[in-house]
Parts: sequence; C-alpha cells; structure tokens
Amino acid sequence: MPLDDLLAGNRAWAADVVQRDPGFFRRLESLQSPRYLWIGCSDSRVPANEITGTDPGDVFVHRNVANVVVHTDLNCLSVLQYAIEVLGVEEVVVCGHLGCGGVVSALDGKRLGLIDNWLRHVQDVAHEHARLLDSAREEDRPDLLCRLNVVEQVTNVCRTTVVQEAWSGGSRVNVHGLVYGLGDGVLRDLAVSTASVAEVDVRREAAVARLAAGLTSTST
Ligand code: ZN
Repeated sequence: MPLDDLLAGNRAWAADVVQRDPGFFRRLESLQSPRYLWIGCSDSRVPANEITGTDPGDVFVHRNVANVVVHTDLNCLSVLQYAIEVLGVEEVVVCGHLGCGGVVSALDGKRLGLIDNWLRHVQDVAHEHARLLDSAREEDRPDLLCRLNVVEQVTNVCRTTVVQEAWSGGSRVNVHGLVYGLGDGVLRDLAVSTASVAEVDVRREAAVARLAAGLTSTST
C-alpha cells in the first residue's frame, strides 16, 4: 500500500534525526520560532526546507499553484498575519520557480478546469507586462513571466493590510523575491527586497526594468 511507504519513510527519518540530535523533537514541541515565511509554489519539486537546507522549525510555509498572493485569499492572508503578528517573523520570501506549470498554462491560455480561475491572477500579470513579454523570444517568455509574477506577488505582499500595519507599527518586515531553477537547484535573488512603504513602487519598477534589460537576477 503506497501509504506504508510514507509511514516507513517517516519512521526512518525520525530515527535518523533523533540519532543526530536526541533533543530535537522535544525542543520543537515546546516552541515554534521560525525566521522565515515562505510563500512558494505547490510544485512537488520545490520543497522549502530541502532546497534551503533548513530544518523543521526554521520556515513557516504557505504554498499554492504559481505562488500567488491575492488580497481576498483568507488562507494566504491568515498565514501572513499569523507569521508576522504572532510568530514575529521579519523575513517574508516569495519564491517562484522556472518551468512552473501554472505560469506556462497562464501564458498558453490552455483550459485545465477550475484552476483556470486561479491562474487568471497570473494572466493579469501577463497582461500588465504584455509589451515586455511580446518583446522577448517566445522560448524565453515562460521564465520571464515566472520572474515578473514573483515581482508582482512581492508587491502584493507589501500592499496587504497585514504588512502595511506591521510597517506603520515599526516592525522590520522585509519582503524578498526569489526564483528557483529546477535544472540546477539554485535560488536566484530578484533584488526586489522591500522593507518600507516608500520602497514598494521603487523596488518593483527597478526589478521590472532589470528584467526588461535582460538581467534575470543579481546572481546570474
Ligand atoms: Zn509552479
């Protein structure tokens, strides 16, 4: 039975952790104090902890198809509010990934069912940047839209009431945008990190200008 594989894998993992650090689970049981909030894609190839070399307890995670932040999504907003106001997280990461099926579908306009409604949000990003996407080579458009989507979702996080109130209350919340490469396992920083109301539009416009100039990240 497939579930047996999951349970056996879990037992082996738990035993391995305890062997390396006997107090690990007892420490985590009594306190959750993650440093990061991760908003990423549901894609099974982009697990937040594994690709960042972090442990359980380090990263508070929200994932959905194509890492979208919508102002009426109570699920995502609740995660954001709980992370910032209750857990005291100051580093929020929006992470997209190259080869994202959700982004490709949004670009192609292929009908997949109910999820088409969710991907409309990514299509809105494509419409917003239609001229830039049209100027790119066809084979480069999916990855360009993936990067533009991260930039826009970082902006959306910054414009939520949760982050706006955190900033006005003096919190040092910093919102970052990363893109993960499925082909090499490397995270790219889109250099859109924003830590104040005054920076939101400036950082967004600078990031889009860099992408328009063909600069895909600070590290490549
Ligand atoms: Zn994806």
